[in-house]
Amino acid sequence: MRAWQDPAEILDKTTVIDRFLRYVRIDTQSDENSESCPSTAKQFDLAKVLVDELKELGLDGVEVDANGYVLATLPGTGDGVLGLIAHMDTAPAYSGANVQPQLHPDYDGSAIELKDGVVISPEDNPELLESKGDTIITSDGTTLLGADDKAGIAEIMAMLEMLREHPELKHPTLKICFNPDEEIGRGPHKFPLKKFGAPVCYTVDGGFTGEMNTETFSADGATVTFTGVSVHPGTARGKMVNALTWMGKLLDRLPMAESPECTHEREGFYHPTGVKGDAAQCQLDLILRDFDTEVLLERGRRLKTMAEALMAEEPKLKVEVKIVQQYRNMAEELSHHPEVADNLRRAIEMAGITPRLEAIRGGTDGSQLTAMGMPTPNIFAGGVNFHGPREWVSDRAMALAVCTLLNLVQIAAE
Ligand SMILES: [Zn+2]
Repeated sequence: MRAWQDPAEILDKTTVIDRFLRYVRIDTQSDENSESCPSTAKQFDLAKVLVDELKELGLDGVEVDANGYVLATLPGTGDGVLGLIAHMDTAPAYSGANVQPQLHPDYDGSAIELKDGVVISPEDNPELLESKGDTIITSDGTTLLGADDKAGIAEIMAMLEMLREHPELKHPTLKICFNPDEEIGRGPHKFPLKKFGAPVCYTVDGGFTGEMNTETFSADGATVTFTGVSVHPGTARGKMVNALTWMGKLLDRLPMAESPECTHEREGFYHPTGVKGDAAQCQLDLILRDFDTEVLLERGRRLKTMAEALMAEEPKLKVEVKIVQQYRNMAEELSHHPEVADNLRRAIEMAGITPRLEAIRGGTDGSQLTAMGMPTPNIFAGGVNFHGPREWVSDRAMALAVCTLLNLVQIAAE
């Protein structure tokens, strides 16, 4: 086995940065209001490019299916089957159209100024101070960059380039998938799990160098429907029950200390995300989050108790709480397959990096895929400040992700 840990060699011998710059220029923003899969047809624009490039790299079974999943297989030089995936879409939160990537070579540690007064400063981004001498890549400040997750795609491609140049390296059969719609939580919804056929998989979709994620939130969604009594306001005294007024009371009773704006690290929350309706009937949508699934379920029960208290105060009011499961913390399932995280930790250490195990305050495609029976932790892709105009990535971080992947596939073939 050869330990890969020299980012300069990867930058010299692969086209990882060229690929990345090519991919980010293609608009692949997903859309949560669309019912189709992929949610936006423009994700096929990137999918088609990736199909051509995978064929060029000599992979087998290269295709994009009707739902926008790009699939390819690299036959193993050793035993086993391993999946590697990254997502093609960018976040609906910020424009990904007409991305103009900017290169800042030989970065000196000062603040990076972009258009529209957008500044990326080392004060807000301590990772920048670890990136002196690197080439920093940003957008021009008017769009997001798309390192989330086109860095991950470029890194998997660069790993495939290196494996082609080094047939002596032992690796399992590699199943590659570039999927749509991760940013709207639907990446796994049409995932061709059976065809993919990997018992274990990794998403290359994490943050800065060394990060690895084997834990995510457990997540539920809640819809609270308030039905009041509608009466002409001129003659409403003692008769009207205003649904909006009572919804306001519920919002006021949610524990502020358990809101996203007041929590961090391993604390969970209630988060009202939207309202619709009128005085007669209205609906409140919330998301509930916690790392501990039991605590998450308790949060749902407390919401129901609050609703019952409102109905006790106003017997003519009806409040219904509906809770739907969204995804679950992958840690529990991964604990049954300790080698999956151990191999990743080893691969990062072999790259000369100290692994940083971070619990994700959100979900990944891996949360759902793990629940679907394919353990799928997350590997760093190198980017920082996802989903906004201050997103950036360094060339060295990307190269170190490629090193980690090369180490990982060798470990998996052992
Ligand atoms: Zn991502």
